[in-house]
Amino acid sequence: MIVDAQGRRFRNLRVSLTAACNYACSYCVPNGRRLQAAVAELGAEQLLRAVRLLMETAGIDKLRVTGGEPLLSPKFDAFLPAVMRLPLRDVSVTTNGQLLPRKADIIRSAGLQRINVSLDTLNPLAFRAIARSGDLATVLRGIDLMVEYGLKVKVNMVPMRSANVDQILPMLDYCLERGIELRFIELMNMGHLRHDATYGREFFGMDDILALVATRHEFARTDAPFDSTSVRYEIPGKGAFGVIANESEPFCASCTRLRLSSNGYLYGCLSNSKRHAITDLLGLPDDEAREGLRSRLTRALGDKQTVQFTGEVTVMKFIGG
Ligand code: SAM
Repeated sequence: MIVDAQGRRFRNLRVSLTAACNYACSYCVPNGRRLQAAVAELGAEQLLRAVRLLMETAGIDKLRVTGGEPLLSPKFDAFLPAVMRLPLRDVSVTTNGQLLPRKADIIRSAGLQRINVSLDTLNPLAFRAIARSGDLATVLRGIDLMVEYGLKVKVNMVPMRSANVDQILPMLDYCLERGIELRFIELMNMGHLRHDATYGREFFGMDDILALVATRHEFARTDAPFDSTSVRYEIPGKGAFGVIANESEPFCASCTRLRLSSNGYLYGCLSNSKRHAITDLLGLPDDEAREGLRSRLTRALGDKQTVQFTGEVTVMKFIGG
């Protein structure tokens, strides 16, 4: 197994099916233009082979299908059922939910148990202002379907001071009523946010979020798995919520995440734009491919930050959050 000096290893793989997205979220892209697919994206079979090799070489046992927007990719329909058949401890999908009603049957028949839906507001106007595309009602219908099909649903919300802080309590109520765990993701200083004052102006961190929740609910911190990114809180008798506190409570020391982009690069750290191509390995026999992967995984593990997220020009669109 490949382990670094801090005892960290990769266990948790995020595979981006495509860099293309049907949204143009204000914190993700600068210009309101929707993201396009990357040049030379890998096909479903190649991505699947990469996943198998990474399971064997790095000990990956947890997989998240992401993007871009994964449900937008035609690969999704073949990739999801195929990864569900692999001996993984856990498979989940992260989506903006816009295509969930259309893909719900594929998701159900593949046997997916968990899904994360990114949703920043329940206000249709604010929704359009943040996502700069899409339709809120369609996302909500998709979430209802997932709950109805018995999936464990989490909703991810990125609070921003000027855009949706007024939605923190309504979003929490919406989720608690449906048995959904809401996770507040602290805004990360990535991509174009690094180039102007937007980040400092918009950041609304864990302390502020908790203070706001405390005006309506009593809650207590609960255990989260060792390598969880989320600080979890229980609201007795009502449910739970979490804060992914990249800034306020960094989780680098226990990070087990590895990212594979849709065009075949490994990223060892979200706060480091170094990447390691693996497409050349995918045409080799298994032994040689595994050998080649080991050295690239060692380098990718060396890319991890030791203490905290320091920000990077890398944008989520390439590596899927
Ligand atoms: N399209 C899918 C979705 O919306 O979930 C997957 C990709 S999206 C990049 C993954 C997650 O990253 C979303 O929850 C999004 O809100 C989050 N994200 C993107 N840029 C971010 C930033 N600068 N800070 C915090 N979260 C961010």
